[in-house]
Amino acid sequence: MAIISKKHEIPTQEAKVRAHNFDEVALGYSAEVAVEESKRCLNCKNKPCVAGCPVGVNIPDFISLVKTGDFEGAYQVINRTSSLPAVCGRVCPQETQCEQRCTMGIKFEPVGIGRLERFVADYHNDNAKAVAVKPESNGIKVAIVGSGPSGLTCAGDLAKKGYEVSVFEALHTAGGVLVYGIPEFRLPKSIVKKEVDGLKALGVDIQTNVVIGKTLTVDELFSAGYKAVFIGSGAGLPNFMNIPGESLKGVYSANEFLTRSNLMKAFRADCTTPIMKGGVVAVVGGGNVAMDAARTALRLGAEKVYIVYRRSMEEIPARREEVEHAIEEGIDFRLLCNPVEILGYKNPGNPKDLKNGFVVGIKCIKMELGEPDAKGRRRPVPIAGSEFELKVGTVIMAIGTSPNPLIKNTTEGLNVNERGGIIVDEKGLTSKPNVYAGGDAVTGAATVISAMGAGKIAAKAIDEYFTANNA
Ligand SMILES: Cc1cc2nc3c(=O)[nH]c(=O)nc-3n(C[C@H](O)[C@H](O)[C@H](O)COP(=O)(O)OP(=O)(O)OC[C@H]3O[C@@H](n4cnc5c(N)ncnc54)[C@H](O)[C@@H]3O)c2cc1C
Repeated sequence: MAIISKKHEIPTQEAKVRAHNFDEVALGYSAEVAVEESKRCLNCKNKPCVAGCPVGVNIPDFISLVKTGDFEGAYQVINRTSSLPAVCGRVCPQETQCEQRCTMGIKFEPVGIGRLERFVADYHNDNAKAVAVKPESNGIKVAIVGSGPSGLTCAGDLAKKGYEVSVFEALHTAGGVLVYGIPEFRLPKSIVKKEVDGLKALGVDIQTNVVIGKTLTVDELFSAGYKAVFIGSGAGLPNFMNIPGESLKGVYSANEFLTRSNLMKAFRADCTTPIMKGGVVAVVGGGNVAMDAARTALRLGAEKVYIVYRRSMEEIPARREEVEHAIEEGIDFRLLCNPVEILGYKNPGNPKDLKNGFVVGIKCIKMELGEPDAKGRRRPVPIAGSEFELKVGTVIMAIGTSPNPLIKNTTEGLNVNERGGIIVDEKGLTSKPNVYAGGDAVTGAATVISAMGAGKIAAKAIDEYFTANNA
C-alpha cells in the first residue's frame, strides 16, 4: 500500500469568517477520515510515541481500534490513562510530545495523534450512554484546591477509588485555565463542563467562590476533617515588564483580558462586562497566551492587532498551529522588538478630560539575537537608537505568570522555591505532611497534560499512603 506522506487535513473555519466569531476554529475529522489517518500508524513494537506522552496514553492500541471502527473501544484505551482526552486532543502540544517521537515523522509527517484523540473523545461524548456510577465510599475526605486540569485529574482518580473528594475553587466556575484562559474558539466550554459534570456524577463535591487562604486556610481544611489536601492552584499571577506607562488605562494583563472575555462573557452582545472593543491593540509576548489574547481582541472588533515579540519567528514559544492560525486571521507580527514605554494621553490643562491617562501608543526598540542563554535560546539584545512608536489604544501584557503567594503565605510549613513554585518530592508531597501539590503551582506556567500528569501522581501517592496506613 502506498504511504500517505502527510497527515489528513483537519477542516477549519475559513480565516476571514472565523476572525469575527468565537466558534471553534478546527472542526474535527469525520469517521472516514479518522479511519484513513489511523492507517498511517505503523504500530511500532517499541511504541516511541507513548514515551512522548506525559501521561503514557497507549497510542498504538487506541489507533489500532480506530482502524477497525471501534471508536468507543479506542476511547476506553485513552481513558485508562487520560481523564481529559477531548481537551488534550485540542490543546496538547503534540508536535513536541507524542508526534515528535512518531516513527512516521522520521521521513514524513507524523501520524495526526492529537487529531485522532480529539475525534475519539468527541465520538464518545456524542454517543456514550453509560452514566458514571458513584463508587462505594471509603470514608476518607480529601480536599483539592483549584479546579484546573491538575485538580480535576487528582479529584477524578481519587473519587474512582472511593475517596470523598471536595474541590475548592476561587472562581465561580470550575475548570481553571480551561474556562478562564483558553478561548471558546480553541476549546469550547461545553467540553470542560461535560468533564466537570462527569466528576460530579462520581460524587465529587465542587465548591466554587471559595478562596483557600482567605475563605478557609489549608489548616482549617484539616480541622474540618479532610485527611489530605492537594494544591493545584495554578500560576495565575501575571508578570509585568516594569516599564513606564503600565498603569495607564487600556493596559491589561492577558489573564484579566481573557477572563473578562471567556469567563465573564464580555464577547456576548447581551453582556455588560466592560472590555476593550475596537481600536488598535498591541499584545506583548509570543506564547499561547499571547496568541489567544491577540485572536480574542480581533474577534472583539479590533481594527488591527499587533504581536510584539522580542525574538524571531524561530524562537516563538506558541504552538506552530496557533501562530499559523493567527497569521491567517491577519494578526500583524512585529518580531525582534521589545516595548520600552507605554505612552499615554495627558491633558494637564483639563484633568477631567475623559481621555486623560489613556494609552495612545507603545514605544518599542528593535532587537537582534546575541549569544544563547541558559536554555540555549539566543538572547535578544537591543539595537541602540532604533526606538519607534506604534499608535495603539490597548496594550495586553502576555509575558508570563507566576504562582500566587496567597496559599504559601497562609500555610505554616509549606516550602516554595525562588520562583514561588511549591516544592514537592517525586510523589507530589510537599514539605507539609499530607499536603500534596502539582501542576503550574509547582512548575510555573506549563501545559495541560503536565498538570494532569501531576494530579495523577499525587492521587496515586495519596491512595498508597492511606492504603499503607490501613485508613
Ligand atoms: C491563555 C492560556 C492558553 C494556554 N494554552 C495552552 C495550550 O494550548 N496547551 C497547553 O497544554 N497548555 C496551555 N496553557 C497552559 C495550561 O492551561 C496550564 O498549564 C494548565 O491549565 C495548568 O493547570 P493547573 O491545574 O495547574 O492550574 P490552572 O488551570 O491554572 O487552575 C488552577 C485553578 O486554581 C484556582 N485557584 C487559584 N488559587 C486558588 C485559591 N487560593 N483557592 C481556590 N482556588 C484557587 C484558580 O482559580 C484556577 O481555577 C495555556 C494557559 C493560558 C493561560
